[in-house]
Amino acid sequence: MAKHTEDNCVFCKIVKGEISSYKVYEDDDIYAFLDISPASKGHVLVTTKEHFQNFLMVPRDLVEKAFMVAQKIGQVQMSLLGAEGVNVLTNVNEVAGQSVMHFHIHVIPRYRDDSLEIGFKPKMIQKYDLPVLAEQLHKGLSK
Ligand code: 5GP
Ligand code: ZN
Repeated sequence: MAKHTEDNCVFCKIVKGEISSYKVYEDDDIYAFLDISPASKGHVLVTTKEHFQNFLMVPRDLVEKAFMVAQKIGQVQMSLLGAEGVNVLTNVNEVAGQSVMHFHIHVIPRYRDDSLEIGFKPKMIQKYDLPVLAEQLHKGLSK
């Protein structure tokens, strides 16, 4: 498989206008456009103009800006498109379903009876040692 680099990144090309897209929002740092194969009517992708491989790599100020735009888009999907709910998600790495290796947030409007399935089946909680996991994560976060 071809290596994902900034040079052959489809979203960098979209941001630069080298590949066309249906833009819904743009400012100095953020570009938002319609997903080419939408999960529902009005499915938007919010991305940073600068190339970062995924959510975990994005500087905090840009994460904040991107999610503020995603929030605004969700509100407009509700007020103008008649959505009754919204899924906001960002995939990190192939194992989590990321196919374009340039950070983006999916803002997916939801409609009654849209028959879209997003989600995961809860696992048996006995499978994991919750107190140990909580402690591990808590320690990592307080470093
Ligand atoms: P991921 O799987 O990385 O979370 O999401 C990538 C999304 O980008 C997919 O939903 C896919 O439909 C969308 N996508 C891929 N290539 C293009 C493109 O060239 N134009 C647009 N507008 N969307 C694209
Ligand atoms: Zn890129």
